[in-house]
Amino acid sequence: MQAKEQFSCGIVIVAAGRGERAGSLRDGPKQYRPIGGRPVITHTLDVFATWPREKRIVVVIHPDDETLFDDARSQVSGDTSSITFTHGGPTRQLSVFAGLKALEKSGISHVMIHDAVRPFIDHALLDRCFLALAEGSDAVLPAIAVADTLKRGSPDGKVVETVSRTGLFGAQTPQCFRFLPILDAHANAAASGRSDFTDDASIAEWAGLPVTLVEGLADNVKLTIKRDIAMADEKLSRNRLPDVRTGNGYDVHQLVEGDGVTLCGIFIPHDQKLLGHSDADVALHALTDALLATCGAGDIGDHFPPSDPQWKGAASRIFLEHAARIVRDNGGTIMNADISLIAEAPKVGPHRLAMRENLAAMLGISLDRCSVKATTNEKIGFVGRREGIAAIATATVVYAGDGK
Ligand code: MG
Repeated sequence: MQAKEQFSCGIVIVAAGRGERAGSLRDGPKQYRPIGGRPVITHTLDVFATWPREKRIVVVIHPDDETLFDDARSQVSGDTSSITFTHGGPTRQLSVFAGLKALEKSGISHVMIHDAVRPFIDHALLDRCFLALAEGSDAVLPAIAVADTLKRGSPDGKVVETVSRTGLFGAQTPQCFRFLPILDAHANAAASGRSDFTDDASIAEWAGLPVTLVEGLADNVKLTIKRDIAMADEKLSRNRLPDVRTGNGYDVHQLVEGDGVTLCGIFIPHDQKLLGHSDADVALHALTDALLATCGAGDIGDHFPPSDPQWKGAASRIFLEHAARIVRDNGGTIMNADISLIAEAPKVGPHRLAMRENLAAMLGISLDRCSVKATTNEKIGFVGRREGIAAIATATVVYAGDGK
């Protein structure tokens, strides 16, 4: 038992491959293809970054992929400060060796080596591997007992024999090792001209290290061909929460003597008018703020400063349509808009349908998604004294993506 030794874990994520089997090169390397709205490798890094143990992560990438990698790393939800990268070599084996060498000076006692294109690992699997290392294993291999009946075939497509599957396992990653022995094994393999090992447990076996099996994870599949990536995307999309966002807005304008007010773009003759730099349509101003709020785009004053003379007397439709365009440019679909007007007068009821039709036209959505309501303020406060009109608005927008 070596459980008492200082345990510090390095993680090597192998991501230097070109992934030719996963489709045309035009689509880019498979570890950077999107599944569930984010690159494959981002999902993989998420699991390690959120694993609550001290670790240093080195990602081995192709020299051409630095931009792709930076973008993928920026989308990781966990702490990314422990994630660095190094360049890989021409084979998987040499890429792992480069990753191990990048960790050589960090003083780690153990290392986990994982394929970037296995994004469905979980913390329970990492814990099983960790436990086996902590109990003193030199090398740990997560694996799944082979379930299919195995056949040996001949070159002309005939079954030669049925191979007993007893004692046969499919190897997965992360494959985990005491650091110095696997670094030595890799150095010796490279020095002796071997560069064709397809996993690290094989190198450990070649170097005479005992390899301990731990239970793998059925979901921990390697995304190899284009169809694997499509299936992974479908699986994540099924579980994805819709990115529904709600924004609210509030506005007040002062009433003074005049000939009418404009609400939701409808002019209503009245013995007062609303004061404001633009047409003072409180309803559309509140809704403009509600829409901007769904994508963190500030408020109406940021986009249309009252100090700017070009908005003097402007129709507020311009403001609302601008906000709707920002929402759409951010990938949003407006689901509904709801405005409550708070005014003693004029009466809104007779104009409500025309107001809703205006909203539907300005937002490009159906009439049943647009609502206008009105209430008095029971003669209380500034609204009750007819000193002003207030409006409260709510907008719901569904955005593309998975809400991260
Ligand atoms: Mg206003």
